[in-house]
Amino acid sequence: MHRVTKALHTRIDNQAVHPAVSPIYQNSAFTADSTYFYTRKDNPNVAELESVLCSLEGARHAVAVGCGMAAIFMTLELLRAGDVLVVNKDIYGCSFRLFQRLSERRGFSVKVLDLSLESSLEEIPRDTKMVFFETPTNPFLKTIRIRTVADHVKSLRADALVVVDNTWATPLFQSPLQHRADISLHSGTKYFSGHSDVMGGVLLVDREELAEEFRQTRFYGGTVLDPFAAWLLRRSLQTLDIRLERHQDVTLEMRDFLATLPPVKKVYYPEVDGSQLTGYGGILFFELHEDLTPRYREFARALELFETGTGMACVSSMVAQPYSGSHASLTAKEKRDMGLQENLVRLCFGLEHPEDLKRDILAAFATLESADEPQDAAARAEVG
Ligand code: PLP
Repeated sequence: MHRVTKALHTRIDNQAVHPAVSPIYQNSAFTADSTYFYTRKDNPNVAELESVLCSLEGARHAVAVGCGMAAIFMTLELLRAGDVLVVNKDIYGCSFRLFQRLSERRGFSVKVLDLSLESSLEEIPRDTKMVFFETPTNPFLKTIRIRTVADHVKSLRADALVVVDNTWATPLFQSPLQHRADISLHSGTKYFSGHSDVMGGVLLVDREELAEEFRQTRFYGGTVLDPFAAWLLRRSLQTLDIRLERHQDVTLEMRDFLATLPPVKKVYYPEVDGSQLTGYGGILFFELHEDLTPRYREFARALELFETGTGMACVSSMVAQPYSGSHASLTAKEKRDMGLQENLVRLCFGLEHPEDLKRDILAAFATLESADEPQDAAARAEVG
């Protein structure tokens, strides 16, 4: 055999290897006798991740995809021209923008309601095809009762779909399908990854026909998760439980601490009712007193243990201003309608020791007291 041909056909014997953990199947193609076909359709690392996620959330089927927005996009693929989509008004800015973009292009309509108020149920149109929300909500961490919304919507129209973005609650603390939601989805980029180093998303459903629909959309739409990302996410999920426990403890302590600080007007933390939401991780919001609002960027810059930027739910702490960050894509009016102002600050607590985080926050506020004037220009350029 020519050495070039031999080099091409050299393989280790997979049958004899027996690795202790699954290797990365970094291949696009499978042999004709494989149960897999092509990585755009399915891949062992993706399948393993999906099984893990099904166990964690108590779902029958999981379809893993490239990122959270891909999962949301695929959900909206289920809508047709003339359909009505109801969305909660407090929601991740990019999701809101995507609803608008697609509704204009596809001809479905979007009705925005505050689903945290039971009175809003009366305003849900009778022909609603899909209801989409996050609970706890982003921002403000309000609770939406999944079962109450689902019971109501399905009483209006039996084939209506209830979709919950469960990213912030996590599968360990909330299982929307057990409260009559049809689809639960996640950005795996957040707690699943936990280290700000991998993107991913997942759709979880109990009904086989929905799972099959999503598998088809993934195959034809190419929203597949790459094997290395699937492997990393699966690896990170092995510590999800202990990370969340620690996020929770640190955050509870920091919530109570923040509430004692004079510059802090109000702290937002969700209602952990033990039935729908059985615990909560590391993301909270607080409002600065109005006179300090123009100083937010100085405050963020002065923090040494909190990274700025778009990441969250990872092992190290982060600070962000939703007005200019996660909800930057909304117009000023849309933000006003949401009640979102510049004095709202999002803190994501990592796994640091709470005493260090407290010292850091106190020192950052002290900087504001000692400085006379806001230092705007340079600071403004830094935080997106
Ligand atoms: N859903 C929520 C609640 C989010 O916070 C985000 C991103 O911040 C997304 C979806 C989008 O996820 P991804 O960035 O993985 O596309």
